[in-house]
Amino acid sequence: MATNPLTSVCVYCGSSPGNDAEYMAAAETLGRAIGEAGLRLVYGGGTKGLMGAVAEGTMQAGGKVTGIIPRFLMEKEATESALGRLDELVVTEDMHERKHRMFEAADAFVTLPGGIGTLEEVIEIMTWAQLGQHTKPIVLANFKGFWNPLTILIDHMRECGFIHTGHRVGPIVVDSPEKIIPAIMDAAEPKGGDAEIIERL
Ligand code: AMP
Repeated sequence: MATNPLTSVCVYCGSSPGNDAEYMAAAETLGRAIGEAGLRLVYGGGTKGLMGAVAEGTMQAGGKVTGIIPRFLMEKEATESALGRLDELVVTEDMHERKHRMFEAADAFVTLPGGIGTLEEVIEIMTWAQLGQHTKPIVLANFKGFWNPLTILIDHMRECGFIHTGHRVGPIVVDSPEKIIPAIMDAAEPKGGDAEIIERL
């Protein structure tokens, strides 16, 4: 297998657990897979919801975790000692700096189920890809069809002629947490793996 240049993966996901236990389980599975692959998790530093679950999974697998959190959100973190468990904590002045630091620190991006904050993060990273600002792989974790409304919207935009560089926009869409790391490895190094990529928008 070819050597893979990846060292870190940024995960965007909900700060809430959602109302289906499978979302939390999938986040923890992904976290563990990141640790087991020897990759560093880069994420928003939260200890709640899917954010907490993915970090917990990576730490349980002995992986390294970088949390990047704006100062005002630290106050919302009831358990500052939980933040202390991360092996790297970056405190930023605002959301803009946080998102940029997350972008710079990661070689690939994964979006799990989440809410408005998660949506904004993945859209921004897709926008930068469309504008040629980066070529880092973007994976949409479409568990139980969670992101179908977004993929339908992107298809609709394309049909209506508003997506001009579609090849740059397309996130890799996978349907289970086990497929995420292989999909990233394949995207980063085409000869490096044998992941089944379900769909590429
Ligand atoms: P959402 O998908 O709306 O839950 O938003 C996820 C995003 O919420 C994260 O990436 C953060 O920007 C933000 N966020 C909300 N609560 C927290 C928290 N307690 N710690 C860190 N980030 C948080």
